[in-house]
Amino acid sequence: MDNYQCGDIEAIAMLRDLTERPFAVEPMSYAAGCAFIDDDYVSLRDAKLPLMDWGFTRGDACQDTISVRGGNFFRLHDHVVRFEDSCRTLRYACPFTREQIVSVMRECVRRTGLTEATVQIIMTRGAGPTGSRDPRECRHRFMAYCVPFITVAKAEQLAQGLSVHISNRWRLPSETVPSEIKNYHWIDFTLALFDAYEHDCDSALLLGKHGLITEGPGFNVFALFDDRLVTPGENVLAGITRRTVFELCVELGIRHREGPLLPEDLARASEIFASTTAGGLVPIVRIDETTIGDGGPGPLTSRLRDLYWRKRDAGWYATPVYEELENGE
Ligand code: PLP
Repeated sequence: MDNYQCGDIEAIAMLRDLTERPFAVEPMSYAAGCAFIDDDYVSLRDAKLPLMDWGFTRGDACQDTISVRGGNFFRLHDHVVRFEDSCRTLRYACPFTREQIVSVMRECVRRTGLTEATVQIIMTRGAGPTGSRDPRECRHRFMAYCVPFITVAKAEQLAQGLSVHISNRWRLPSETVPSEIKNYHWIDFTLALFDAYEHDCDSALLLGKHGLITEGPGFNVFALFDDRLVTPGENVLAGITRRTVFELCVELGIRHREGPLLPEDLARASEIFASTTAGGLVPIVRIDETTIGDGGPGPLTSRLRDLYWRKRDAGWYATPVYEELENGE
């Protein structure tokens, strides 16, 4: 079954066989994750999207991803505001108020019992009358889920650094879908990841207009030149971690700016790192064949990364997940 490939007649027959066998009923378990869908909390395994939801058939969806560490959401307000902005831009009417969204998020985490978690809130266009192609007829759908903390790379890569391939693929231009929407248009990223693997790299960076570097699958990128950090300012998601890095730079007196970056600029940077909710600050130690610095996490990257986690552990921008419930119970 592990080697099942689409179109493999034998495997499909086996699958059919399996579906005809009665399954042992397992007690509802949230350990692997809890989801909220269609006004109900279900285990992650039971969270199902109707086939006709435009979120699936047209990638017509937006989301936001929030981390929980030590039982605290990080920058909860900023994430929810970004989510609301995405919904507004896509003309979704979210049926929930900000307070209700937060209480759904809390409940998803609470049911898993996790203290280190990833929470995602999602809106899709939903579905309309069968055959209708009019988006105004769709009934929008809000969903959320909580799973154990997810990172953009394996633990060893987070610690020691990523190798990144610069793909020739263009990131979806802002003129097509505004970059500020945290969207599910990931085919460019996914194909770029295949490019990366074929070039013996862990991840990818995509180009945009004028051959400029944009971002990678799930992360913004920073590069250090002399004593100044530069991050692309166009055709990228305004990452919450990216904003956090700016604030850390102010605290440490590090010069930083948004600006254009060409692939050849990256090759001469002394340090490069990715910024993402899914792992914080992640060193990038090789760009294709070029080793960055001495091939390990650079001193400034390490300093910023340590400060990021230290401040988070000390309660920076923290909103307790469980407090409200404990107080209310
Ligand atoms: N860019 C893209 C395309 C992303 O999907 C993400 C996060 O998932 C980021 C950047 C980083 O954003 P944040 O720091 O808000 O997690």
